[in-house]
Amino acid sequence: MPTALITGASRGIGRAIAQRLAADGYSVIINYQQSAAAAEQLCRRIRQEGGQAAAIAADVSQPEAVAQLFAQIQELCPGPDLLVNNAGIAHFGLISDISFVEWRRIFAVNVDGAFNCIQAALPYMIHQKNGVIINISSIWGLVGASCEAAYSASKGALIALTKALAKELGPSHIRVNCVAPGVIDTAMNSRLNPDEIAALKEETPLGCLGSPEDVAAAVSWLASPQARFITGQVISPNGGFTIC
Ligand code: NAP
Repeated sequence: MPTALITGASRGIGRAIAQRLAADGYSVIINYQQSAAAAEQLCRRIRQEGGQAAAIAADVSQPEAVAQLFAQIQELCPGPDLLVNNAGIAHFGLISDISFVEWRRIFAVNVDGAFNCIQAALPYMIHQKNGVIINISSIWGLVGASCEAAYSASKGALIALTKALAKELGPSHIRVNCVAPGVIDTAMNSRLNPDEIAALKEETPLGCLGSPEDVAAAVSWLASPQARFITGQVISPNGGFTIC
């Protein structure tokens, strides 16, 4: 059974990705930072449905924590064959108000986190001459969002990282792609009030927000053999909100 590591899978989009990949036949490693109860509950649910799952805590921004995460994975199973860099944090505010510490934290989780996990995952994938890496970016990484400069810059970095690694790792038969969701109904958007949500729906040609399952479906396809010739690409489930 292939193994998938999904970072930040205790809730939201990561949780839906873990459930979808478990249904696709992966043994899933559910990484989280703080939400131990939610991660363990997800594991139990996947096991009840006949799948395999384990939950492991690690702050992906910390190289030592990621090294421990991979050491724990190796005690359980070979792999991962599939790495989904989903863990991420947002920040809303004017560029003139963000502190250097806040700026660094966004990049530490959103970009360093992906780097740390990719470096740790590569030896196995290169040895196998097979692997899939999927980075979860955002439409704001494609087109930029006012008052979300740090978040947009970090998500843009993930897109550039995806493209560079697709070229570097293609000869090792490792595919690297990016999913850049539009506005998805998760806790990350809990700061939005009902009027703002209504306005976002109105601006979206398909007339609704996305669900975590919409993002999981894109990840599932990119990970599948049907996408065997797809690498270095950005797929954006966004209801037509941005069309690049
Ligand atoms: P969410 O509901 O806030 O969940 C974030 C997840 O990331 C949680 O599982 C959290 O773990 C984990 N996490 C945060 N910091 C971490 C760290 N340092 N190490 C390990 N795990 C960490 O967010 P979401 O909406 O599902 O977003 C998931 C991804 O999709 C993010 O990368 C986000 O930027 C991207 N995205 C979201 C949207 C959207 O509209 N929601 C749109 C585009 C892109 P704990 O529960 O343990 O804290």
